Amino acid sequence: MKITDYFEKSKGQTLVSFEVLPPLKGGSMNDIFDTLDPLMEFKPPFIDVTYHREEYVYNKQISGYYEKTAIRKRPGTVGICASIMHRYGIDAIPHLICGGFSIEETENALIDLNFLGINNVLALRGDARQFEDKFIPEPDGHKYAVDLVKQINGMNKGMYLDSNIEKGSPTDFCIGVAGYPEKHFEAPNFSMDIQYLKQKIDAGASYIVTQMFYDNANFFRFRDACHKAGINVPIVPGLKPITRKYQLTSIPRKFFINFPEDLVTEVTKAEDKNVIKIGIEWCISQCRELKKEGVPCLHFYTMGDSETIYKIVEKI
Ligand code: FAD
Repeated sequence: MKITDYFEKSKGQTLVSFEVLPPLKGGSMNDIFDTLDPLMEFKPPFIDVTYHREEYVYNKQISGYYEKTAIRKRPGTVGICASIMHRYGIDAIPHLICGGFSIEETENALIDLNFLGINNVLALRGDARQFEDKFIPEPDGHKYAVDLVKQINGMNKGMYLDSNIEKGSPTDFCIGVAGYPEKHFEAPNFSMDIQYLKQKIDAGASYIVTQMFYDNANFFRFRDACHKAGINVPIVPGLKPITRKYQLTSIPRKFFINFPEDLVTEVTKAEDKNVIKIGIEWCISQCRELKKEGVPCLHFYTMGDSETIYKIVEKI
């Protein structure tokens, strides 16, 4: 079923959904099931599975020189989606990125998803590769997520890259895109970022999932700016509870977001073992307020930690 249909059917009730990362190469599908099994009690209508492109690693050779190799540390996104659908009978949403894909490879990936009966996809640009200071698209790949959305939307109309295909079978993907309550770090300013987001919606995306945030005021400001810009699709807040002290610096560094002063003060003065409790309580109160404001769904970045997420969702 399409994600937007779940939102429509829920008739104003807030749903919960979860996001998982493929295990590191060499890991097992059980790593995913161990995370998801306990969370199934909350009846998520869908699970997101992230996509991780290849990274460069430098291996020392006998000669003493280093050899640069590209490897994918977390492959398996599509297989995991199929496995989730098979085991739990719910929808799985693969993340699809522009980075590392030519438009032809993107088309083939979408054909695979279509044949597997996966008809939801989160369309993203992806980040710069490690050791590269900016995002570099493939020579014949997409530069921005909006271009990927256009390609998927084209396939939904039966348009394939090969112009000899006259009556291509139309796919039926429901397309989600990313939004940034505190602005994407590369955008010149907040309003330009909203304009680019609007382009993704105009190109055929049907809902937005946000980057994590810890101050709901930022989410409400973002939601209001979207409405003002004419973006009227469902906006799903993304949430990740803080569980360790070091995250006060690692999360802003990785995700370009700010922590509110009250949370920073509480975490800083707490003993390490109490940080998780503070994070859980903070996230519960965020969720309660977001629910009151009528968000369609609360989307949790599990990052393999189902125990913490469980303690939050059972309280909301
Ligand atoms: P875009 O929408 O293309 O935006 C990228 C930047 O370009 C922004 O600054 C935007 O303002 C600007 N921009 C957009 N269009 C234009 C234009 N036409 N002209 C000029 N500037 C423009 N990454 C992964 O690798 N795998 C994942 O599974 C993954 N999942 C994610 C899930 C969510 C919910 C979120 C919020 C992020 C996720 N990411 C993932 C990270 C994401 O790929 C990065 O944040 C990336 O830097 C931007 O992706 P985007 O789709 O928002 O890009």
